Formats: sequence, structure tokens, C-alpha cells
Amino acid sequence: MLPFEGSIFYYMSAHLPNSQYPRIVIIGAGFAGLRLAKKLSNKPFQVVLIDRNNFHQFQPLFYQVATAGLAPSAISFPIRKVFHSANNVIFRLASVEYIDTNKKTIQTSVGEIAFDKLVIAVGADTNYFNNSQIEQHALPMKSVQESLQMRNRILECMEAALISESEEDREAYMTILVVGGGPTGTEVSGALSEMKRYVLPKDYPELDFSKMAIHLLEASGKLLNGMSSKSSEAAERFLSDMGVKVNSSALVESFDGKTVTMKDGKQLKTHTLIWAAGIKGNPVKGIQPDNILPNGRVKTNLFNEVIGHPDIYAIGDIAFIEDPSL
Ligand SMILES: Cc1cc2nc3c(=O)[nH]c(=O)nc-3n(C[C@H](O)[C@H](O)[C@H](O)COP(=O)(O)OP(=O)(O)OC[C@H]3O[C@@H](n4cnc5c(N)ncnc54)[C@H](O)[C@@H]3O)c2cc1C
Repeated sequence: MLPFEGSIFYYMSAHLPNSQYPRIVIIGAGFAGLRLAKKLSNKPFQVVLIDRNNFHQFQPLFYQVATAGLAPSAISFPIRKVFHSANNVIFRLASVEYIDTNKKTIQTSVGEIAFDKLVIAVGADTNYFNNSQIEQHALPMKSVQESLQMRNRILECMEAALISESEEDREAYMTILVVGGGPTGTEVSGALSEMKRYVLPKDYPELDFSKMAIHLLEASGKLLNGMSSKSSEAAERFLSDMGVKVNSSALVESFDGKTVTMKDGKQLKTHTLIWAAGIKGNPVKGIQPDNILPNGRVKTNLFNEVIGHPDIYAIGDIAFIEDPSL
């Protein structure tokens, strides 16, 4: 049984008009899919853009929503509005569940859609590396909704800190752990330190914010691994100057919602663990498993064509471009 069978949309049809032009179906209106659809606007193709949300989310500013610097509406906008003046782009709010590569159709929550060319631009999800306990308790940051959940958790913890009976409990509520010292973890740690200095003391004058701790934990030995040593060192220096406690050789093994345990046995008490330790591709079913890497990315050639699947392309975070010259 397909996952959407039985839903109220199951027997619906996508109601796509006939067209004399080839149909290009794009799954995902994130950075990659939206840009491609804009490039194809008013060109001799029928472009069908599909997303499970009817709004685009600007991910680089999620941390600003999480730390109360921006309202959610400032970083999300309606997809349909982008195409007001495009006469060949059709948007459908739907979840794509399956690609039938032989029939050249996709199964969606609003019915089957045929394509001449298909572009997979479904992005990536949070990677918990199969640690279900961390997945259950940690806070991810891959959508506006998750950013708001993070903001709410931080504020709930400040409320709880106010009425805590013991100093130990209060400090646990005022401790935030960020796991993952890549660009996202580094950025969110800096934003949290600004929230600690400029935002929270105004709302919670009864709390002593010198007791609030922000930890950034990274396992690889340095922050911004993959960037230059100069950048890594500068990021660590800036964050330390801002009061963030950086530990770049800490491997988090478990979190039960109250206590974080690291590989070396060290423990920290907190109710807020932000998981920025990795992403994984989340390919739509139907692509040959041989063409999907263990991290969920879809293998493509240099032209973004999915290996073994002519007329199907993958772009953006979901794509892994194989370069035979490397
Ligand atoms: C907190 C954060 C900060 C970042 N900061 C930066 C930065 O400063 N600079 C930078 O270059 N990059 C940054 N990135 C990374 C950047 O946002 C991504 O590389 C980019 O969004 C990837 O674009 P995409 O189109 O591949 O996927 P996405 O933007 O994730 O879009 C995927 C779309 O597909 C839709 N979708 C997924 N599955 C389905 C399905 N089955 N059916 C229908 N629709 C589906 C989703 O709803 C979504 O709209 C950041 C990411 C995060 C999370």
C-alpha cells in the first residue's frame, strides 16, 4: 500500500491542463527547485512545481527565528506569488511518494502526474545517525516550525528556571547545548549568545544571566571543519569572546531529555539540546537503490542526470554529482 492511500486526497486528480509543450515536473520548491522554475518561466515548457508546503522557507535565517530575532513571516513567502507573471508554471501542493521510472509518472497525494523530464529537488533532512534517543529529545532546525519549537523551548526553560527550587535545577534550565560545529551550529551559538545578552535579561530581570551557559560541542577537533584553519580558529575565538563554551573534541553519545552523556563519560545537565550535527538526503522511492548513497544522496552525472535514469535529474542538497576526473 502506498503511504498516502486512504488519505482524503487519494482519489483526487492533479487537474493539469493539456499543453503542446514538454512537461517538466520539479519536486521541491526550496532554493534549487524554485530557482529552476524561475529560470524556466515563460519558456516553451509546461512546468509543474510541486511542494508539500505552499510556502518557501529561507533556511539560512532559521536561527534568527529560533532566537527571536525575526518573525517567521520574515523568512517564508508564498510560492504561488513568485509565479504571478509566469504563464507556464503550475504549482501543486502535494507530497510526492513514488517515482515510476518506467511509466515516467510520479505518485502524489493529489494523484498521478506524468512527466517528460523530472527534477528531484527535495533537499535534506536532519541526520541523527540512527540514534533514536537523541532524535526523540533533541531540537532540530530544518523548518520554520522547528525553529519556533526551539524558541518556545528556550522560553519555557526560562520560565521554569524562575520557579526552580534548587540552584542545580535552575542552572540546568539555563544551559543550552548545541551539537555540531559546522556553519549552522556555529551561527546558532553566536545568535544564542546575543539572545542571552540583549533579549532575555529584559524579559527575565529576576534571573541571573551570568549563570546561563551556552555550550558548542563538536567531535572532529575543530569548528567549521572543511573550511580553512584560519576560519576555524577565528570562529572559535569569536564565540569564546562572546561567552560560548566551545569544546571541539566532544562526541555526544546520548541525551535522555535531561542529561547529555559524552563518549569520554562526561555529563552535562540541560533540557535544551540543539542538533546541528548533520543532514541526510531523503530521496523519493523509486530510484534504483544502487544510485543512492548511504547518506541518502542521489548520484548524478556532471549534468545532474540521475545515473541509470534518463530524463530524471537531481539538484540541490539531494544531489551527489559524480565527477569521474576526481
Ligand atoms: C539553519 C540553516 C542555515 C543555513 N545557512 C546557509 C547559508 O548561510 N548559506 C548557504 O548557502 N546555505 C545554507 N544552508 C543550506 C541551504 O539552506 C540548503 O543548501 C538549501 O536550502 C538546499 O536547497 P534545496 O532546494 O536542495 O532543498 P530545500 O531548500 O531543503 O528544499 C526542499 C523542498 O522540497 C520539499 N519536499 C521535500 N520532500 C518532498 C516530497 N516528498 N514531496 C513534496 N515536496 C517535498 C520541501 O518541502 C522543501 O520545500 C542552511 C541550512 C540550514 C538548515
